[in-house]
Amino acid sequence: MNRNHFWKALLPIALFLTVAPFAWADGESAPGRDPKQPVDEAYTAKMKKYTTAPYFTSPLVDYLPASKTVPTPEVVLGDVAGAPGILPYAGEVYKYMRSLEKASPRVKVISIGTTEEGREMIAVAVTSEENLKKLEENRARLAKLADPRTIYSDDSEADKLVAQSTPVYYITGTIHSPETGAPTALMELAYRLAVDESPYIKDIRDGVITLITPVVEVDGRDRVVDVYKWHLAHPKDFYPPLIYWGKYVAHDNNRDAMGVTLKLTQNVLNTYVDWKAQVLHDLHESVPYLYDNTVGDGPYNAWIDPILADEWNMIASRNVADMTKFGMPGVFTHGDFDTWSPGYLMFLAALHNGISRLYETFGNGNADTRERTLEPEEYARTWFKQNPPLPKTLWSQRDNNNYEETGLLTSLHYFNENKRLFLKNFYLKAKRSVQKPGAEGPVAYVLPADEPRGTLQAELLQVLQKQKVEISRAKSAITITLPVKKEKKKEGEKSGDAKEEKKDEKKEPTTRSFAAGSFVIRMDQPYSRIADALLDHQYWSPEDPQKTPYDDTGWSFSELFGVQVVRVTDAKILDAPMEKVSDVRASGGVKGDGAIFAINNHAEPALATLRYKLKDATMEAAEEAFDAGGAKFTRGTFLIRDAKRADVESAAKELGLQIAALGAAPSVKTHPVRAARIAYVHTWLSTQTEGWWRLALDSLQIPYEYMSTQAIAKIPDLRAKYDVILFPPVGINASATAIIQGLPTAWGNPLPWKTTELTPNLVGKNDSTDDMRPGLGYDGLAKLQSFVQDGGVLLTVDDTAQFALSVGMGAGVNAARSEKMKIVGAVVGTQLVDGASPIAYGYDEKISAYCDDGVIFSLSSVAGGRRRRRLGPDMKQRPTGRGTKDDPDFAVGRIGAEVPEEQESEVWEFPPLTSEQTHNNARAIPPANRARVVLRYANAKDLLISGLVDGGGEIAQHPAVLDVPFGQGHVVLFSINPVYRGETRGTYSLVLNTVLNFDNLNAGRKDAAK
Ligand SMILES: [Zn+2]
Repeated sequence: MNRNHFWKALLPIALFLTVAPFAWADGESAPGRDPKQPVDEAYTAKMKKYTTAPYFTSPLVDYLPASKTVPTPEVVLGDVAGAPGILPYAGEVYKYMRSLEKASPRVKVISIGTTEEGREMIAVAVTSEENLKKLEENRARLAKLADPRTIYSDDSEADKLVAQSTPVYYITGTIHSPETGAPTALMELAYRLAVDESPYIKDIRDGVITLITPVVEVDGRDRVVDVYKWHLAHPKDFYPPLIYWGKYVAHDNNRDAMGVTLKLTQNVLNTYVDWKAQVLHDLHESVPYLYDNTVGDGPYNAWIDPILADEWNMIASRNVADMTKFGMPGVFTHGDFDTWSPGYLMFLAALHNGISRLYETFGNGNADTRERTLEPEEYARTWFKQNPPLPKTLWSQRDNNNYEETGLLTSLHYFNENKRLFLKNFYLKAKRSVQKPGAEGPVAYVLPADEPRGTLQAELLQVLQKQKVEISRAKSAITITLPVKKEKKKEGEKSGDAKEEKKDEKKEPTTRSFAAGSFVIRMDQPYSRIADALLDHQYWSPEDPQKTPYDDTGWSFSELFGVQVVRVTDAKILDAPMEKVSDVRASGGVKGDGAIFAINNHAEPALATLRYKLKDATMEAAEEAFDAGGAKFTRGTFLIRDAKRADVESAAKELGLQIAALGAAPSVKTHPVRAARIAYVHTWLSTQTEGWWRLALDSLQIPYEYMSTQAIAKIPDLRAKYDVILFPPVGINASATAIIQGLPTAWGNPLPWKTTELTPNLVGKNDSTDDMRPGLGYDGLAKLQSFVQDGGVLLTVDDTAQFALSVGMGAGVNAARSEKMKIVGAVVGTQLVDGASPIAYGYDEKISAYCDDGVIFSLSSVAGGRRRRRLGPDMKQRPTGRGTKDDPDFAVGRIGAEVPEEQESEVWEFPPLTSEQTHNNARAIPPANRARVVLRYANAKDLLISGLVDGGGEIAQHPAVLDVPFGQGHVVLFSINPVYRGETRGTYSLVLNTVLNFDNLNAGRKDAAK
């Protein structure tokens, strides 16, 4: 449809939508320009030109006030905000914000930190000159409201502070790099807030401090602008998809608000908390035309204060109402988004006593103006979308900017009108957080001093400290009473059936003691909610009306870090003597005398760091547990020889590892633990999920060579260069075909991912290629197989495990996807099957792991076969015939025949070959060639630890980690994802053990070939 025709078709609608003045509440200023203030006519004319329909703007943004002293965004952009063809780099956005700061006493720019690639992040405060002058006084007042303990939770004192304080509304833009509109909208918004003298805007400026981070994902912003420049220079070509955003992850940068592993999360969190902001409003662009998805749909996060849910509704419904009255179609709240997971950036506010908000506006992925056709469910009129978006429309970045700015301005105005209420709520939420022990509880969490995984315990506490949670340490031993846990009868269980389980029921209250030095996380503190949300368990009912969870359903850090965390409800603990700890570190060092150093293996990732750090030392792993020097050492214990005590000591201190010096080597079977040479493989299909693996390895200082599937074919002898190839999940359920073939190359143009003059930011420190389209290829596949044949180890996870199996690397292992099961990003129970496998070193019998509908492995003792299936139902009971139930039947006139005993096997075991199967069967797999099952999923009833597990029977008891011999080497297959979002540190060592023991994975194997 050409543009003229398009306008004609919409003309009748346009007439109806002309905005009429409407009434406002008493004392409220009406939106619209101040007739006394001149308008920047040229700028305004261009805004109008780039707006594709008259109803895609509002009286708040259909003009730009003129200023003699303050520059408009045009000085940097060369055109107006939202103009077609223009996407500014982060540096250009900052340049503009700093020119605003220079020209206006109402603007202040601060640096809030840097990104992984060293780019700056900023926040821009815009408010009245008066407010800016009194920033520190105001901050001191807000700090008291934020921590009611400072005013002894005195409500009348709080009221005084509320009356005097100016609230802070924090807006964050473009965390998602392909959602490109926010920076220009925020440049113009800052200008309007600084310059516009209309009563509506003046109210906001005088009453609120608007804080703006115009670009959250700065590294990704510069990349997306590069790609856009390439696109403009090659208008007829396909342009490369944005394979990398930040250094590590793409879309998941908005799932880091729990683990706080990315710089952008740390910087926004610090800014939010330092400024004592009341709101964190994050801008996204994936839904037409403005979806305030803060309200979303259930289930709501169980740890938020209900006051917050009410605030979401208040602001959102007013937002929808105001914009609807402006005649802007497609503005709504409610919708598909559940508000369960606290991983989103905005949730930093939700669980720190503020208000989280999120907009989805409509973006084109860049600054092109395009015709957009919506799906029926997008334009359908529903109860919550009374004025839905149009099925088809020409859409521009300017339209998007109009919606973003209008939404923000109406929000800011409403927020200002009700700021006393919101400030009081801010205080009340903090006060109720402090009162948590006496309300819903718990009273505290304890991380005991006798934790064998000291480094992981410290890491968990450090996450909480990043979240601004106060940590205390017990000065003396504490004894508390544990609550009585009521066991509910299982469905369909008759009273007589459960005798076995009843024995375990604990009816009497029990006590538990914690040694001095145990860490206590008190819940009588302002940020108790985030601590509780992270450490508690989650339960998502399979019966929940919400059938499509938006993200993970379970995350219990207490489980995923693999350390002891005790939820305490006994209020007595709050009176125990304890002191605040400002900097939690695991204490390490060397004890004892001797030249052999022993480090107990408790599956702490720091052990791998140590191996690489002391790269010249000889290290071995004990294949069995042993006693030495009066202490017990686990299987997998590291023994170091040929190392200087001083080096060992300093590494131990730095890493927080406790090391014992022994006078003599223990008499235990050992094998070398080597600093394997790692190749790390990614596809050009997606780097989203593998990025978390890079982040983990980098933070552990474990070196690897990063390469794409394309590079594999070009390396003449992989085995000569590498010991281990890590192939982390692609993350999009990539098929083997997609991994091998990549994107279609039979048509289209090459998609380069390279640093050039036109695209200076594209590669950074990641990978590059002339053409993203080709995949591993069949040459690459052959190279990969030879690598393993020649003794290398290939580690695969979920979709890459499925890939390895589908190309024949794993006899007797089948991989299938679930049919009905729903394990949506949940914490599940797993169990060791073969604790003697080096992959399992340091682990206890039961391990909590992250699973997201993981691939289901099944074992068959016949290559290429599936687990034996029978025709018809199993004959579990005897057929009709003579005798009682337990008697054998007879056939009249024939000698009786014994029925041969059938050998039973468990789901995680290779079923024994039947005599029929062994007869002349070249496909029967000898035991030594079968996979070794290291870890399996728990039984169905124990599978759920946290989150949603529905129909878990499909995966229960199936192998979760397998070690498959292939030639001289091994393919290690994971169904769980052991390295994910910085949350699963308890399972990192399953990967690291594989790496360090790469040439001895058969250690302890009962049926090994030799
Ligand atoms: Zn987004």
